[in-house]
Amino acid sequence: MIQRLFEAGADVFRINMSHSSHEVLNNLVSDIRAVEKIVRRPIGILADLQGPKLRLGLFAEKSISVEKGDRLTLDGDPAPGDKSRVQLPHPEVLAALKPDQRILVDDGRVQLKVIEASDGKVLVEVVVGTTLSNRKGMSFPDTVIPTTAMTEKDRADADAAIEAGADWIALSFIQRPADVAELRKIVRGRAGIMSKIEKPQALEHLHEIVELSDGLMVARGDLGVEMPLEQVPGIQKRITRLSRRYGKPVIVATQMLESMIESPVPTRAEVSDVATAVFEGADAVMLSAESAAGRYPVEAVSTMNRIAEAVETDDLYPPIIHAQRSVAEATGQDAISLAARTMTDTLDLAAIVCWTFSGATAIRASRERPRNAIVVLTPNINTARRMALPWGLHSVLTDDVRDMDDMVRRACDLTHQEGFAKIGERVVIIAGLPFGTPGSTNMMRIAFINVPH
Ligand code: PGA
Ligand code: MN
Repeated sequence: MIQRLFEAGADVFRINMSHSSHEVLNNLVSDIRAVEKIVRRPIGILADLQGPKLRLGLFAEKSISVEKGDRLTLDGDPAPGDKSRVQLPHPEVLAALKPDQRILVDDGRVQLKVIEASDGKVLVEVVVGTTLSNRKGMSFPDTVIPTTAMTEKDRADADAAIEAGADWIALSFIQRPADVAELRKIVRGRAGIMSKIEKPQALEHLHEIVELSDGLMVARGDLGVEMPLEQVPGIQKRITRLSRRYGKPVIVATQMLESMIESPVPTRAEVSDVATAVFEGADAVMLSAESAAGRYPVEAVSTMNRIAEAVETDDLYPPIIHAQRSVAEATGQDAISLAARTMTDTLDLAAIVCWTFSGATAIRASRERPRNAIVVLTPNINTARRMALPWGLHSVLTDDVRDMDDMVRRACDLTHQEGFAKIGERVVIIAGLPFGTPGSTNMMRIAFINVPH
């Protein structure tokens, strides 16, 4: 199935650590790596950490029915709850709640409002909802919770994911820039860091979070619980634009083709939603239950793939993308990426070929959103896999280069072999000399595709 999904268009596989033991993680990673060998293409793996998901305690009768206006107390007592009180097994949350703040239970099905908060106890009133039951998930959209970003489980999962060879690690429920920094300390460059934006607190520090992250996810599922649903589309645009401005790959996620869990054809609205994300310049669009648990996983991936291809070949796509382009930063990398892009337009070149060790130049070239392909040549398998995520990159693993001639010859041969340029066409090659020095992008060269050597 993984091979079929790859062939249908999947570039990156997400492993959701909320539902995966380390054994499942390891098995999935080795299955994906086995497919890599068969299809002879690098495949990205994103391990998604659960983050501090907070839950309600237990009731004596498993659940209670509530109605608008009912009041009950949340406290730290693990004794089973009833209609008058129940445990909220997170003392730091009990201490942080203030009157008038909202508490959402069970994906927002129940909404509570804090009436009174005193030492270790909170009196709440039911605003909306009918049932509270054992260990339901809770969100606190108005409260900054002074916990660390990562639970013990997240730390163990992050270590396991890195050990297994994940290319990207995502962290859920980020609230502050420091949360990103905390994950970075654990990951130490061994994977890209993806910040899931799904809490209003994160939106208040969006610039800093984007700056500190290697990638972003517009996590619309929880965002739509924590924020009014009608604000989610605008927030999606804000996160996408900001990520693009900084040149950080951005994923739009959740319910993109939701009806395909049960149906082989999506709704028109879903198709439009995926198309909108691509028109906005998202680097990736993501499936969740559609491919993880749905009846039509292959159809869901190929549907998404077809929508992305249709948008990117639409006459309106280049002007829309061009209008959102950001100015190049004052670095050699950006100056050369910009020049390579305008050069491909002016000379109608077949591709930009980018030699890179870390992938940094490839990401800046991707940020330019050129009209044609970017072929990424790297001797680093981790880079080839990580670069499966950013927009428009096609990575090829190749040996280290010996000299300038070797670099040009191999750029032309591989670009031709991979089907991105025909004999007689021209490409622009960008690289940093001497090779392997990070951030040294300083060379561009136009080359003709000759009969292969
Ligand atoms: P999840 O994240 O699927 O891990 O909850 C995505 C989202 O919240 O949209
Ligand atoms: Mn989420």
